[in-house]
Amino acid sequence: MKAALLEKTRVMSVGDQPDPGLPADHALVRVATSAICGTDVSIWAGKMPARIPLIPGHECTGTVEQVGESVTRLKVGDRVVLNPLSSCGTCFYCVRGLTNICLHGGLRGREVPGTFAEYIAVRETEAFAFPEHVSFAAATNFVGLYTVVYSQRKAPYIAGARVAVLGQGSSGLLHTQLAKVSGASSVIAVTRSKWKLEVAKEMGADEIVPAGEVDPVEAVRDLTDGLGADIVIETAGAAETMVQAYDMVRPGGAILQFGIGPAQVDGVPGQAYYFKDLTVIGSRAGLPEDFESAIRLVATGQIDLEPLVTHHFALDDIQAGFEFVDAGGDGGTLRAVIDIAN
Ligand SMILES: [Zn+2]
Ligand SMILES: [Zn+2]
Repeated sequence: MKAALLEKTRVMSVGDQPDPGLPADHALVRVATSAICGTDVSIWAGKMPARIPLIPGHECTGTVEQVGESVTRLKVGDRVVLNPLSSCGTCFYCVRGLTNICLHGGLRGREVPGTFAEYIAVRETEAFAFPEHVSFAAATNFVGLYTVVYSQRKAPYIAGARVAVLGQGSSGLLHTQLAKVSGASSVIAVTRSKWKLEVAKEMGADEIVPAGEVDPVEAVRDLTDGLGADIVIETAGAAETMVQAYDMVRPGGAILQFGIGPAQVDGVPGQAYYFKDLTVIGSRAGLPEDFESAIRLVATGQIDLEPLVTHHFALDDIQAGFEFVDAGGDGGTLRAVIDIAN
């Protein structure tokens, strides 16, 4: 099969790779689209450790082309999105249902072979069928949405809360949409990017804060009667916004630390946990049940994934696609995807 191979840092080639086998409990998926996620770019750029050389990619949709003999959950022709994680099913964490922190699995395209390929074989429990009306490209965002559902599910509450969302990339926009759907009394979208603030408004943000022009901490306090937000969701994964979250959350409130931050963050106020009586909640990817929720939210029209894909590249141009995303896109970029088949 044809596939991309990350040979070494920042060097990707496209060529022949062995076809995947088909164990009895696996489905063979013909890949339609695989998105270029920030994590893929971090791996490509050598900023995140990975088992290189390998086929990169983890946000993938496609069509079930063949099923192993014991498969009952999927059938040939199903349009599916893949769990970005492969898990063993038997370790300490998997038996507790926490497949996201499996001791022996990992992220496709980082610890295990990825999805920038014509075919991939996955356990039948690692693929989720989605409705016909969602395009393959848009459906790659189910991978983002399931992580957002998991993160917000861990919040003490969303209904009635004043929620600030820091960063309005594709994940931030999904957090904005989901917080609104979940009954937040107001959602405050914060980013430096003015055009993303306009998109956030269209997706349900009640208030927008242009972080490049005003002090976002002051702005969020002003919008919350001087108290601070009940829930702050950090999606940018930047040291600056991670520290801002501590300053703009109200005493007794909670921070959802969703973005993958740098290894160390200077400036986190060590005494805030005590004096502000804070709850800080991390989350890593999500659980299979969050895919079911994500797909229902889109199937019922409560969350819209279609506007999130702004750029398409062919598999042969994957190196250019990564360079484009790494350079920050073209000033109107949310998600770039690699189209592999239809
Ligand atoms: Zn991703
Ligand atoms: Zn496991």
